[in-house]
Amino acid sequence: AKGLILLCRPGFENECAAEAELLAKHAGISGRARTAQNAGSVHYVFDELIDWKEALEVAPFHALVFTRQRSVWIERVAEMPEDDRVTPLVQTILGQGVRFGRLEVETADTNDAKSLAGFLKRFIPHIERHLKATGFLRENKPELPTLHLFFKDSSQVDLGLSRPDDASPWPMGIARLRMPRNAPSRSTLKLAEAFDALMTEEERAQSLKAGLYAVDLGAAPGGWSFQFAERGMHVFAVDNGPLADSLVATGMVEHVKADGFSWRAPRKQVEWLVCDMVEQPARVAQLVSDWIASGKAKRCIFNLKLPMKKRFEELKKCRQVIDARFKLHGDSYVLRIRHLYHDREEVTAYLAKIHVPVVETPKPSRR
Ligand code: SAM
Repeated sequence: AKGLILLCRPGFENECAAEAELLAKHAGISGRARTAQNAGSVHYVFDELIDWKEALEVAPFHALVFTRQRSVWIERVAEMPEDDRVTPLVQTILGQGVRFGRLEVETADTNDAKSLAGFLKRFIPHIERHLKATGFLRENKPELPTLHLFFKDSSQVDLGLSRPDDASPWPMGIARLRMPRNAPSRSTLKLAEAFDALMTEEERAQSLKAGLYAVDLGAAPGGWSFQFAERGMHVFAVDNGPLADSLVATGMVEHVKADGFSWRAPRKQVEWLVCDMVEQPARVAQLVSDWIASGKAKRCIFNLKLPMKKRFEELKKCRQVIDARFKLHGDSYVLRIRHLYHDREEVTAYLAKIHVPVVETPKPSRR
């Protein structure tokens, strides 16, 4: 492999490059990130070619925050002739000798790249047909790697590989969610995406069910509370601002006009804490780790509104705040952070305490 192909929101190239550089350094791989301002993509180029399977381990998808999608860059096809782009591309793909279970067609998330949509719609079916006919694309084999075709323009494509369980499930890492009817605000999509992007199916099944309690700090007008109310869950919606009438009408939401930093739930433990207050990230990190470490809530999804400059450093600081809080009593935790498609100048995180089972020392048996 030549390197890594990383996709991000335009404007976040520096953060995307910084995390790739850091992970590569940890893995003992040398190389450098190449990108341009607002490109919406970063190529991390290795100094030496390495095996693609090894390259996947350099930057596991779950360890990336600002990267929406990443694949291992194996080849580039450039200057494809206008009269026949199919032949050189298909030949190069077949030449890799890898069989795959899925084809993902990608561009950067920029207006320039969006103008390629029409071309790709006509072009890709030809590629697909060839790959299926030759047995290289086998859609009934989900365990096979995914082939990424990252188009810079209609004459240049980068080939990438990823494993299905180590990549975003969405093409280009973009979660296209439909705005639910009656939702009080568009930010409802942020929490919906966070449930999908940051949690396992098992965690969702355990925690998103009727009758459970949620606390929503900075709730108004109620897009996040809506996600719980809609599932038959009870919500304490904490905000001095007004909630949407439609949300209050569900009867599932209690509006608490109070400060989110000092208010505590009138229950020993709630299933969920969510927090979307526009506040200093480190302050939010401190607050939510307090709730979770002390057991007042079982799990949490929260937003960290990052400053335009030093986003990467600020996030590091927040991780340290959380880590320090859990270390206080030697507790373990799971923390997953992503710059979601529906996030702008912020990232979204999932935090829960891990309950390590107590292993009893077996008593010596009497004989
Ligand atoms: N998640 C909401 C939704 O989906 O509709 C949007 C929340 S909005 C981005 C941030 C909210 O945090 C504002 O309504 C603001 O009043 C509230 N807020 C800011 N600081 C707060 C505090 N200290 N206590 C409670 N609410 C606060």
